[in-house]
Amino acid sequence: MALMMSVSGVRGVVGQTLTPGLAVDLGCAFGTLLGGRQVVIGRDSRPSGPMIEAAVVAGLLATGCEPVLLGVASTPAIALMVSRLHAAGGIVITASHNPIPYNGIKFLTDEGLAPPPERARQLFDLHQSRAFKLVDATSVHKPRVEPTAARTHVQAALGIVDQPGIAARGFHVVLDSVNGAGGEEGLMLLEQLGCRVAHLNGEPTGLFAHTPEPLAENLTDLCDAVRREGACAGFAQDPDADRLAIVDETGRYVGEEYTLALQARYMFETHPGSAAANLSTSRMIDDLAAAGGPCRVYRSPVGEANVVATMKQHGCVFGGEGNGGVIDPRVGVVRDSLVAMAIVLQLMARTGKRLSTLVDEIPRYVMLKTKFECTQERIARVLAAVRERYRQEKVNDSDGVRVDFADGWVHVRGSNTEPIIRIIAEAATRERADELVGQIQAIASRL
Ligand code: MG
Repeated sequence: MALMMSVSGVRGVVGQTLTPGLAVDLGCAFGTLLGGRQVVIGRDSRPSGPMIEAAVVAGLLATGCEPVLLGVASTPAIALMVSRLHAAGGIVITASHNPIPYNGIKFLTDEGLAPPPERARQLFDLHQSRAFKLVDATSVHKPRVEPTAARTHVQAALGIVDQPGIAARGFHVVLDSVNGAGGEEGLMLLEQLGCRVAHLNGEPTGLFAHTPEPLAENLTDLCDAVRREGACAGFAQDPDADRLAIVDETGRYVGEEYTLALQARYMFETHPGSAAANLSTSRMIDDLAAAGGPCRVYRSPVGEANVVATMKQHGCVFGGEGNGGVIDPRVGVVRDSLVAMAIVLQLMARTGKRLSTLVDEIPRYVMLKTKFECTQERIARVLAAVRERYRQEKVNDSDGVRVDFADGWVHVRGSNTEPIIRIIAEAATRERADELVGQIQAIASRL
């Protein structure tokens, strides 16, 4: 697979497209851009992590930076430490939910965010031109080890909930950390919240016990464990612990869309205000906002950085994506599985209801996702035709085209990385969702 490059960094197969040479050069480019200041570095648990880290650190040291090494840490913990330590930037070594052969290098601003597009372009231009500013021998610093990331992150997540109130309930939960970076932090959080925890795949070996994306087909062991343990909830983190999928007390996989929906339910009831979510995220949160009084949902283009930009623009009290990534600005401006677990337990403690009841009380929709190959030029024609066909409806074309109807919506967009077009439709019934997808396919087939 070719090396993938985006605003947030690079991702590739270790030893093929993601090499130590590339990592050194990117370290030099980032260090040059920052002009030799403090840079926080952490990694997920993959066996290739220390190799990539050593290479990136060499580049940072060569350009006069002071690397602060967090070791294995979740992506939200690394982002939090960048701002807590007032560092000039951060680097996260992770390939998120991709399998073991992959790894990636993500760059963070001093706020712990993905760099804006023009800053990312500067970085890649520097990498291309190799115009690195290397320092002389006496100006090379030593890396510093910083062991407090897990504790700091857990404290921040505890700060947004009623810790004694949750602890008083003595919840019994199952946590599946997929041998990723979130095990230590996840367990620490749940124990501090007074939970009895059955921890699956908690060792951060990076040898993922199952396919790491937290989808239903990969979490059958977690569902079984919840039933066997008689637990009241099951939580599944992805390898860098920025996403969370949820299993209810019956062992039912309720899915990633419900992570944000449950957060929305809690937040709209207790902290009325606006929220942000990307255009492909379920309409459940709009229903919850309408029920919550003067609350509003702003839609952003797909991508975590776009959700965060929309949150900042409108002063949102929370935000997120339908892939199980929830963002609470009181903790940080990245998706965070610890925030998600804390909020779900808080919602259960506050309402006294079972998780299955809380889920079933949220209006239910059927979401269908499909994609097909399409050249860039044809994608543009399809989007134009869809926009024209539905010009009487409520259309948002800030990222592809999303059309909202009274009884559902459909979102059509070209991929940023591959020549494919994606169609996502959601409606109260399977038939209606099928119909919405079919309408778009019919338009595309004529072009
Ligand atoms: Mg992830």
